[in-house]
Amino acid sequence: MARKIGSRYTAHQILGRGSAGTVWLGEGPEGPVAIKLLREDLASDEELVGRFVQERTALLGLEHPNVVSVRDLVVDGNDLALVMDLVRGTDLRTRLDRDRRLAPEAAVAIVADVADGLAAAHAAGVVHRDVKPENVLLDMQGPLGPGGSHRALLTDFGVAKLIDTPRRTRATKIIGTPDYLAPEIVEGLPPRAAVDIYALATVLYELLAGFTPFGGGHPGAVLRRHVTETVAPLPGIPDELWQLIVQCLAKAPASRLRASELAARLRELLPMLAGMPPLDVDEPDADEEEPEEFPSSAEEPVSARPVRRGAVPLVPGAKPADSNRDTHTSMRVPAPDELAGGAHGTARVPRAAGAPRPGSARNRAATRRRRVVVSVAAVVLVAAAGVGTWAAVSGDDSGATPQDTKNSAPVSP
Ligand code: ADP
Ligand code: MG
Repeated sequence: MARKIGSRYTAHQILGRGSAGTVWLGEGPEGPVAIKLLREDLASDEELVGRFVQERTALLGLEHPNVVSVRDLVVDGNDLALVMDLVRGTDLRTRLDRDRRLAPEAAVAIVADVADGLAAAHAAGVVHRDVKPENVLLDMQGPLGPGGSHRALLTDFGVAKLIDTPRRTRATKIIGTPDYLAPEIVEGLPPRAAVDIYALATVLYELLAGFTPFGGGHPGAVLRRHVTETVAPLPGIPDELWQLIVQCLAKAPASRLRASELAARLRELLPMLAGMPPLDVDEPDADEEEPEEFPSSAEEPVSARPVRRGAVPLVPGAKPADSNRDTHTSMRVPAPDELAGGAHGTARVPRAAGAPRPGSARNRAATRRRRVVVSVAAVVLVAAAGVGTWAAVSGDDSGATPQDTKNSAPVSP
């Protein structure tokens, strides 16, 4: 089912679907290309189309071996399309879903590539704002790098910025993917280059651990953790590598490394990491229930607090929902008092595989008792609050609701 895009391009086959639209394998005057056809509600937004045309030069200007170049922009009737270099391979999310964790050498090589791409973008004054495994493509046709890794290219430059119009995301809303959002964005500061470094360090942690440091549960709870919690070391991780991750996950943007420095420091570590198997890390416990997060249960010491993956309400009584790593185009920023209400502690304490769970049996029994009490309190709260307490999250006037990101067909060479 071929489809004409403008006068110069034909779209042949869907390669993947993303939050902003559908990516097609296409053909242009200079050969095969990837064409991202933006979602209809975005394409019909006149203001957004205007911004695309305005930003044409910035989007088209980035040329780097670790950046998916945008070749053309097509505004044609109802279509708004970005024509990009075709990357024959897969995206990093698909790879991670398959392998769960990468060997440190391959993970570091991939992240160093992305850091190089970011360095070029930052030098050109472009902040990506949506660095995540879905937006890293692996070129499976080129030569292999350290640890058998494929060259990594960052895609979707500038798209987050364009979609983030004042009308679409008002002062109380932010754009991005909760797991990778830097704390300063949560606190409402303008996103600068350091937000990309924070997101990339989150990706590196995820490649090594199999889960993100602050993810899990309701987006609001994830946002709060970015601001209030610190990361615990991954068992078995070489100290030099861990220090880099910690530095780039610093709450203060100025304390993080710059992209070029991060790339160089990561590459220095490659020889030491050669041949090292993936880390033996257990997924944080999934069996804890969300009422654990209510302030009334805070008597338990933070170090013994079980790590949770279940949905966690930010506001007591709110219905936990919407756990995903999608780019949110209408995410509500928690108010300062909501943020302040959270526990200050260490998020998602990872355990070496087979290591005992934190907390004694007695501690667990006490936790269980408390959970019963808290659950009853939660039911009362929910009943009192009624339906719609959490409507603020979906109270979007732009019609830009978060969409499912369902990736992605690998490109067959
Ligand atoms: P969105 O940003 O809208 O969520 P993406 O840009 O991440 O969408 O694209 C969705 C999927 O399409 C990717 O995960 C990937 O599988 C595929 N894709 C995107 N860009 C390209 C490209 N330049 N070449 C090949 N495949 C691509
Ligand atoms: Mg994307």
